[in-house]
Amino acid sequence: MSKKIQAIRGMNDCLPTDSGLWQFVESSIRQVVASYGYQEIRTPIVESTDLFKRSIGEVTDIVEKEMYTFFDRNSDSLSLRPEGTASVVRAGNEHGLLYNQQQRLWYMGQMFRHERPQKGRYRQFHQFGVEVFGLPGPDIDAEVILLSSRLWKNFGISQHVTLEINSLGSSEARVAFKAQLVAFLKTRISELDEDSLRRLESNPLRVLDSKNPQVQNVVKDAPKLIDSLDKESAIHFQGLCERLDNLGIKYRVNPALVRGLDYYNRTVFEWVTDSLGAQGTVCAGGRYDGLVEQLGGKATQGVGFAIGLERLVLMLQTFELDKNVESVVDIYVTAMDESVEFYARKVSELLRDALPQIKVMNHCGGGNFKKQMKRADQSGASVALIIGLDEMVSQQVAVKHLREKQPQETISVDELTYFIKKLFDV
Ligand code: ATP
Ligand code: MG
Repeated sequence: MSKKIQAIRGMNDCLPTDSGLWQFVESSIRQVVASYGYQEIRTPIVESTDLFKRSIGEVTDIVEKEMYTFFDRNSDSLSLRPEGTASVVRAGNEHGLLYNQQQRLWYMGQMFRHERPQKGRYRQFHQFGVEVFGLPGPDIDAEVILLSSRLWKNFGISQHVTLEINSLGSSEARVAFKAQLVAFLKTRISELDEDSLRRLESNPLRVLDSKNPQVQNVVKDAPKLIDSLDKESAIHFQGLCERLDNLGIKYRVNPALVRGLDYYNRTVFEWVTDSLGAQGTVCAGGRYDGLVEQLGGKATQGVGFAIGLERLVLMLQTFELDKNVESVVDIYVTAMDESVEFYARKVSELLRDALPQIKVMNHCGGGNFKKQMKRADQSGASVALIIGLDEMVSQQVAVKHLREKQPQETISVDELTYFIKKLFDV
């Protein structure tokens, strides 16, 4: 036997046992974004490497160590997208969707980062995100947070996630803060790790985002950005807090929250959970008013977030909220003799015509009554239609209830649609 080829480490197959749950998650999300009037945007999975360097920032984990970058046959440097915002802004600029307009957009799809795979952290993963353009005020910041909180509510996990918010202020205020931060970090230089020492020179704010516990211990004593906000950012932040209070959305102000990408200003937020071990952030986002211009467009404000769908799915499984996923098969149609195969097909197609939402599976492969009923049971269907010669001759079907103790019934084909409609309450 030749050697089996395996999937790439950190890149998962979604098997039929899980795809129902994923479809449920995706359709619930689609329904929520539609209910807020947001529109979908789809962008390519591959982009110019420069796009991510210029937006996410050269001195970030993603660009420094995590991107899948390669040269194509024209020797252009391309990268698999590690996140969605940069691509959405690129597309918006390219097609004139942003300047002087208001857009409420969403996307969903694969992202790629070369990280160490572990629970909740993969090399191919999926994000759902929203991006809103052309709205400067805290009202829209509150709206995107509200939209995310509705998702938790609909999935039944509100009590397992908490909202953390912070403000990064204006880019000018950050320049002043950087000097203050560097001065402080230099007093504790012996406690910093290699990454932090490098970042101290190139991008000191990133030190605040370190995951190393020893560095975090230094960071907790560091000066806080939120204490040196410019006046307008302070008013914006207060406006956001008031709105969240009014909406009844609980939050914690976390002055250490800076986020791992360079493009954020003012509002940043994360929804975190302690139910996933180390990978505690399920949703992360914020405001990025400078990004559109940074990528060559005319200055347009932006705000958005991204949810890691693997982490959301893991939470639903952890709390056993993955059970209300739709059935794969509702009705299993048998054919007890080869000569009734066409009759069984005809009856099934009649049902699919009349009740497209009902899932009908036809038995294939022959076999005796016992074998066919075993398949019917394994399919998960709640009823089996038993069709043999007698049924065909009398233009009837026998209905056997597979999950409930109810006597078998005989129904004429003319009445079958009505009977099934009532039975499944559709
Ligand atoms: P983390 O701190 O966990 O590395 P991050 O700050 O790198 O997250 P973002 O770039 O903000 O993450 O991405 C938004 C969300 O996407 C994260 O909150 C998380 O839910 C999800 N995510 C990020 N990286 C991965 C990954 N490698 N595997 C699975 N989900 C991920
Ligand atoms: Mg990361």
